[in-house]
Amino acid sequence: MTLDAEGTNATARAGLNGQAPRCDHIDLLPAAEPGLPECKECLAAGRTWTRLLVCLTCGWVACSDDARGGHAKAHYQETDHPVVAALDPGSTWRWCYVHRRTV
Ligand SMILES: [Zn+2]
Ligand SMILES: [Zn+2]
Ligand SMILES: [Zn+2]
Repeated sequence: MTLDAEGTNATARAGLNGQAPRCDHIDLLPAAEPGLPECKECLAAGRTWTRLLVCLTCGWVACSDDARGGHAKAHYQETDHPVVAALDPGSTWRWCYVHRRTV
């Protein structure tokens, strides 16, 4: 199994006509409690992270793609949980991996 196969996820439904499809994933999110503010996989590997994201489906916390690990994206690839949010309190930034845009 490779992790570099961006775009092989068959659930992607991005519109090709220039219209951004509405993200229906955010309607389906349960109220997940975020876990501890740390990336467990980076900790296990002895690495640091720059920014933490939380999976809004299950509350899993992991580092963002701009860090070396990209463990939040790896979590999406393993679980198909589509939407993450910035862990910073007060931030409203959310990202849908399926639609590949902020939502
Ligand atoms: Zn979406
Ligand atoms: Zn990480
Ligand atoms: Zn998750």
